[in-house]
Amino acid sequence: MQPRARGNKLAPMSSTPSKKRIGILTSGGDAQGMNAAVRAVTRTAIKNGAEVFAIMEGYQGMVDGGNGIRKLEWGDVSHILDRGGTVIGTFRSADFREKAGRLKAAANLLEHDIDRLIVIGGDGSLTGLNQFSIEWPELLEQLQSEGKISAKKVKAHPVLRFAGLVGSIDNDLVGTDMTIGADTALHRIISAIDDLSSTAASHQRTFVIEVMGRHCGYLALVSAIAGGCDYMLIPENPPEEGWEVEMCKTLAAGRAAGRRDSMVVVAEGAIDRKGNPITAEYVRSALENNLGEDARVTILGHVQRGGSPSAYDRWASSWLGYEAALAVLSDAPEDNGAVFGFRENRVARIPLTEAVEKTRSIPTLIEQGDYDKAMELRGGSFIEQVELFKELSTPQPAPPAKDAKRIGIVHVGGLAPGMNAAARAAVRLGLARSHVMLGIHGSLQGLAEGDVRELAWNEVEGWIDEGGAQLGLKRMVPNTEELYAIAKAIDDLHIDALLMIGGWNAYMSARLIQREREHYPSLRIPIMCVPATIDNNVPGSELSIGADTALNVIVEAIDRIKSSGASATRAFVVETMGRNCGYLALMASIATGAERVYLPEEGITLASLEADVEELRRTFENGRSLFLAIRSEHANPKYTTDFIARVFEQEGHGLYDVRQNILGHIQQGGSPTPFDRLLATRLIARALEELEEQFASEKAAVQYLGLSGGKIKVAPLSSMPDLIDPKTKLPLDQWWLELRKVTDALA
Ligand code: ADP
Repeated sequence: MQPRARGNKLAPMSSTPSKKRIGILTSGGDAQGMNAAVRAVTRTAIKNGAEVFAIMEGYQGMVDGGNGIRKLEWGDVSHILDRGGTVIGTFRSADFREKAGRLKAAANLLEHDIDRLIVIGGDGSLTGLNQFSIEWPELLEQLQSEGKISAKKVKAHPVLRFAGLVGSIDNDLVGTDMTIGADTALHRIISAIDDLSSTAASHQRTFVIEVMGRHCGYLALVSAIAGGCDYMLIPENPPEEGWEVEMCKTLAAGRAAGRRDSMVVVAEGAIDRKGNPITAEYVRSALENNLGEDARVTILGHVQRGGSPSAYDRWASSWLGYEAALAVLSDAPEDNGAVFGFRENRVARIPLTEAVEKTRSIPTLIEQGDYDKAMELRGGSFIEQVELFKELSTPQPAPPAKDAKRIGIVHVGGLAPGMNAAARAAVRLGLARSHVMLGIHGSLQGLAEGDVRELAWNEVEGWIDEGGAQLGLKRMVPNTEELYAIAKAIDDLHIDALLMIGGWNAYMSARLIQREREHYPSLRIPIMCVPATIDNNVPGSELSIGADTALNVIVEAIDRIKSSGASATRAFVVETMGRNCGYLALMASIATGAERVYLPEEGITLASLEADVEELRRTFENGRSLFLAIRSEHANPKYTTDFIARVFEQEGHGLYDVRQNILGHIQQGGSPTPFDRLLATRLIARALEELEEQFASEKAAVQYLGLSGGKIKVAPLSSMPDLIDPKTKLPLDQWWLELRKVTDALA
């Protein structure tokens, strides 16, 4: 409908609408998180005064026109965040590959005056998009010469502005760290591997698990590490000739060292050095022939594409969609044609042509047998993880030498899922590097009591997917008497270094130990703090072990809470943990589509609560049926969750009812996510390297490490005060607060 003028006269029909118009489509293989991106694009664009059209079934909707192009309103993208697949459909359109198809597509877009396009898809879809935009002027000229569009129309839409988002569960685009859908696919795979492990262990069985990845071994590699598997086969790094025997030896050694199950992960595109495919069935028969093992094959197939998106795929895709919408609405030439992806834990612009060229060269390199180059293109952390997997999965039944370094592993502070995965990685990698690994039971207080035991390779079996902390945990920072006893225990037990895994209290304890060195010389040993806290509030690491798991637990719980209110008219106030840090609350608000979030970083005022009540009343009166507010536990000491719920209820005067949910300790429990397992393993590997450097140079630095800009960085603990706000005790750089703008745009 065209706008009407005031008064009685109709406004003249304008051939160009006053608002910018965006088309959005999903193309190629579906990926969980595409819906979050569609929602974010739609809402960001509407908030910025534009109109959005869904192009159904990928490029085919553009080619077909008609009902294939539909206007999207704000409410059309409600309740899609938690859905798998893509609600606007996807398709591999053969028509769009032909110029004739693209000509029709251009005509159909122009019928709606759409000259801005956002495509979420793999490298194929994005290449098609690039081509379409280059061809645009030529297509319009042809349409005009055929009399299908007017010269005015051509003049009004001289360029096709576009932005792309990479959706691919394979995580195969060179130049991005994570593509939309890959994290959720890992969730599906790891859940299957965990389930298979328990039945395999009962019968002492071997499972061969095939995962997706025709040219990309990412899913296989990460799931082999995070699933605690024994052997892995990927396309980029084929095994040497005779690998069948080596594989069987590894599995047999694992069993001899105490494993009850054996798990082999095969990427669907796995090959040998001669380029022959290695199928899961071939692996099974190799195991049968060499070991006499009755192995079972499980092909995970499309399960990996299914189900509700993980928390990461929701918040990251929302952020990507937000940026893509702003870019495509901008008229600055430099904003046109951007492909957005995740690099170094931030949204980044990916040079499309280069990224696609590199991505497409990998299958060719694999075909040509240039595996080194294929691995190099996959990147440094991919190569590092292949090496890590080898170390983790090679059994070390022989005890370390007498003069080996003795490294104590201790958990300090609150519980974080992934602490066991970290301890397991420390034992496995430490033994592989010839150290004695000591489990300190019951935190630093346990150390003071001398409750320390050597851990063998097989003793950490099964720890990777376990919640809790097998070594025990205490929150307290040690007191003066305990410090004396700790110093004595370190001396008596000949502990050469400490790995302190935990949050704020672990770091405080390490600082205390460092300060007491002048009194107790035995405390002069290298110490490394490894960040593990669901609160994600320690400096030096953008993400700490456990935070991703807690976030997923929160998101899953809120999905249920929201669905419980589906047939009521209800407002929910949900409280998350996080202490003084609003990370969990803010990320959960994006991932669940909360209307309001209360953060300790911002506080709560009476005026803001009044405004919220007004908003509640106004929107419920206008037909809203569900409202979700998330409150971080320390957002305000007086305006508690209970208080807010009561205010909402009282001021609603029966318009809606209010329920409050304090999620509590479920956030610290449960099996760690694939991300937390991988993070734990990578941090520990780097921590051990650093301790080894300290041994070699006979130094005894007290340090901490963490993920920063996608890399693992180490810093002296003495630098910690420079990185925290003395008042709030929060890291000065809380990168995630940048996402406040995303919640504001989408809520
Ligand atoms: P993905 O995007 O997941 O890599 P495909 O390579 O199958 O998947 O591409 C999806 C769709 O994108 C294709 O079916 C086609 O419609 C379109 N497309 C891909 N490559 C091109 C191209 N070179 N030119 C035009 N359209 C293309």
